[in-house]
Amino acid sequence: MSDAARSRLIPEVDFDAEGRQAGFVRLFHSVHSSAYGFIPIPIVVLKNGAGPTALLVSGNHGDEYEGQVALGNLARSLEPAEIKGRVIILPMANYPAAMAGTRTSPIDAGNLNRSFPGDPDGSVTQQIAFFIEHVLIPLADVVCDLHSGGSSLMYVPCALIKRAADAERHGRQLALLKAFGSPLAYMSGGGNGTGTDSTLMGGAERAGKLALGTELGGSGQVTPAALRIVERGLRNVLAHMGILPKESRARGDGTRLLDVGGADYFVYAPENGVFEPAVELGDEVAKGQLAGRIHFPETPWAPAVAFHFARAGFVLCKRVPGRTMRGDCLFHLGTDAAA
Ligand code: CA
Repeated sequence: MSDAARSRLIPEVDFDAEGRQAGFVRLFHSVHSSAYGFIPIPIVVLKNGAGPTALLVSGNHGDEYEGQVALGNLARSLEPAEIKGRVIILPMANYPAAMAGTRTSPIDAGNLNRSFPGDPDGSVTQQIAFFIEHVLIPLADVVCDLHSGGSSLMYVPCALIKRAADAERHGRQLALLKAFGSPLAYMSGGGNGTGTDSTLMGGAERAGKLALGTELGGSGQVTPAALRIVERGLRNVLAHMGILPKESRARGDGTRLLDVGGADYFVYAPENGVFEPAVELGDEVAKGQLAGRIHFPETPWAPAVAFHFARAGFVLCKRVPGRTMRGDCLFHLGTDAAA
């Protein structure tokens, strides 16, 4: 049996049919309240003749909303006659998490973006990962996985690629990132623990597909600025791939390209307490500069604990909630990339 045939999820759409189709991927889940029911994961497929396929995903983390809104807008506004090839839109990839507005699934506590390549006989989240890895990714030439900071983090809206060891792949990835055309973009070295193959981007890379991600903001909200960036960027990616006409590409003012490297780019809470940031998102900071303090309001006579940036850089990401546990990521930096 092929890997695709081992998936238990049943799409209502036919990926080879022409025109617009919308429906659900059925994930059968037998529970007390619904013995024979399925979890309805929404999917939209647009196809017009031969050509490349773009797989556009959001709701991989359920509390990241910018991509979910942008892909809904795209699913309704894009006409099959406009495109050449195919666009597959999966706006609520981890549907149970997205409906609950949580990063992880309320059913199995699964973090979809740490569940790849998945398991066809595993938990609900593992089954979704397996379906994306073995059914959807093989159909695609380019995969866009739209993230943001979720409930706990806020980003300056940006796009990203994973740095590839292979120079030819890296060149194609970099061209895709520049085509997206966000004001800010970065190349990830996996310093935040996502350098493993357990992410959707890892799955796309395993299959040799172009893969672009985003961090569109976060703190559990949607902003007009982030939406403008991602909606323009998605159409630019479709034009870059030849799915939309090349001349439809919207040129921006260029992309500031950053590197996000290893451990010294990340700042973590040294204590349990209340986080007071000393800098703002978008600030340029120096090595050794005060990053913030952890306060102990329960013993207000105890001095706050200061912590500092281990290197210079641009403040790309900041923790949102004040209440903080030791080990929480409070900031991460980016530094201007060489090329
Ligand atoms: Ca995310």
